[in-house]
Amino acid sequence: MSKPPQEIIREEILALKAYHVPDAGGMVKLDAMENPYGLPETLRNELSRVIDQAELNRYPDPGARRLKARLRSVLGVPPGSDILLGNGSDELIQMLIMATARPDAIVLGVEPSFVMFRMIAAFCRVRFEAVPLCHDYTLDAEAMLRAIAAVQPTLIFIAYPNNPSGNLFDEQALAHIIEAAPGLVVIDEAYHAFAGKSWLPRIGDYPNLLVMRTLSKLGLAGLRLGLIAGRTEWLSEVDKVRLPYNVNVLTQSIAERVLQHHDVLAQQALAIKAERAALFSALQRIPGAVPYPSEANFILFRIVDAPRVFERLKERGILIKNLHGSHPALADCLRVTVGTPEENERFLSVLRDITTNVPGADSGGGRRLE
Ligand code: PMP
Repeated sequence: MSKPPQEIIREEILALKAYHVPDAGGMVKLDAMENPYGLPETLRNELSRVIDQAELNRYPDPGARRLKARLRSVLGVPPGSDILLGNGSDELIQMLIMATARPDAIVLGVEPSFVMFRMIAAFCRVRFEAVPLCHDYTLDAEAMLRAIAAVQPTLIFIAYPNNPSGNLFDEQALAHIIEAAPGLVVIDEAYHAFAGKSWLPRIGDYPNLLVMRTLSKLGLAGLRLGLIAGRTEWLSEVDKVRLPYNVNVLTQSIAERVLQHHDVLAQQALAIKAERAALFSALQRIPGAVPYPSEANFILFRIVDAPRVFERLKERGILIKNLHGSHPALADCLRVTVGTPEENERFLSVLRDITTNVPGADSGGGRRLE
């Protein structure tokens, strides 16, 4: 008789919760840091022609040479550093951990941060250690340097800006961390378009620095394309664990064409930044809500009875992210992605309604929702 999954699947996989993506059908979708703006019609028409000419019967170019050349020039990848492409940056995180998963390997991160660093380390049977951020989500540089000395991490992941807190960490502290690290340091710049600060131009300064980017938050989440830049001596090794055709024909040709019109995406990112400022000040005026300053396309905020507020928003067709319960430092925290002005206004008006129309509540701020 065959055995049940509990006896065949690895124990650490059995212990994991699958990465949950809720169904957003018909909702105002402000949960996943997507760009809310579509592409202009002229560009969409151009893309139809690109799709029309795509050779779907052929495997993609395994080296994605045209796309890589375009990415290098659009993103300003410094000469002398190489790039590696992934099916989203998630896949690059997986490739990095897989390639470095020696029996004694340790991945170091901070928490709270992007959960896939920890999850993918578990997939690859690699120990993951996290240094808690300070109470205001800034980097505890001393604790980080102590952890580096103690565990000698193979790989360090730093999201810059950080998800879910939205802030950039202190540059000087990061420089010390990169210098002190015995292994690779990956600065994950998924939200770079909204931050304006980057480690990419400094990649030549450090032999152990890799910088990761994605097109997801820029407006192409559906294409799944991420990249990592760094020295060839590292990337040529990591490339060995890449599945041969990880970036498909359509992603290669469409991304290459959209990047010829990179200004469209850059304009949208500017609009999102302006909306972020408006959303932040509106959140500051919501009774019981405390937003955290953000350099990304989302805002983390603490609010009285967050899980209840989240559910009430959902009942009224607005999906954001509930972080309460995911980490002790995120108690009563919700994260909202910056949407279009109309979506943000809809979110804010429902939120105002929820926080002011509480049966039996008085009119003061900070009350509990029953
Ligand atoms: N890094 C960070 C910090 C993220 O927040 C995310 C997405 N939530 C990713 C990487 C993954 O992005 P991609 O769509 O490129 O896989």
